[in-house]
Amino acid sequence: MSFLVDYHMHTLFSDGKDTYPAYLENARKKDLSEIGFTDHITLETVDWSVKEIDYPVLKENLRSLCNNFSEDVQVRFGLEVDYFEHREDELRDIIAYFPVDYVIGSVHFLGRWNFDTDESLYGKWPNDELYRRYFEQVQKAAKSGLFDIIGHFDLIKKLRCWPENDQSSLYEETLKVLREADIVMELNTSGIDRPCGEFFPSRKILEMASRIGIPITLGSDAHSPEQVGRHFDEAISMLKEVGFTRITRFRNRKRSEIII
Ligand SMILES: [Zn+2]
Ligand SMILES: [Zn+2]
Repeated sequence: MSFLVDYHMHTLFSDGKDTYPAYLENARKKDLSEIGFTDHITLETVDWSVKEIDYPVLKENLRSLCNNFSEDVQVRFGLEVDYFEHREDELRDIIAYFPVDYVIGSVHFLGRWNFDTDESLYGKWPNDELYRRYFEQVQKAAKSGLFDIIGHFDLIKKLRCWPENDQSSLYEETLKVLREADIVMELNTSGIDRPCGEFFPSRKILEMASRIGIPITLGSDAHSPEQVGRHFDEAISMLKEVGFTRITRFRNRKRSEIII
């Protein structure tokens, strides 16, 4: 059996295309050892998040799947929660409601602009300014203590928003905040299939993260079952090349490590 985990996937509860069994079936085919479902939770009104009215059924269905599924692939209870800097108490209450194994904290908004689906405001500010504002939110998310994992670390590049100037010092500063906050970063393999055409984060950022000593985990951000475990061979090769020797897994918000 493989040792790999896929800790980032979306089902019909949010903006994914299928239900738990279909993803499990593909995880089994890909020989994964463990998967986590992480449907979106956001405080904004959007069409891609779990509806509040569905929180109880998500809680019961996923908890029952985690408890009862005892075959080859283990299932973990995850969430992908949007960070909003002035609403940490609301976020804490929502997270406490769910029996989570881990929570991914993601920044999909700058103010009320959902920059990863709405292209309309690109060009209004210099891209360097967007990078500064984006990574400021990532740093606040890491420091909030709400999350176990920071999702897609450099998502701001998704729609080919490249910085005008080298942002290495901003990446380094942000990675040090993650280290200080003792939070895990994910290698999110979906970026290759996005306009940016590379993993979140980039190889260069992975090199820095390895040097700084940030723990890493793995997620495909699958929105359909065939995307489960996508590009994982390449991901593992890259992790090893930049110096990682292990990936992190979670149960009941406690970490353990798998040697790669
Ligand atoms: Zn996301
Ligand atoms: Zn996601």
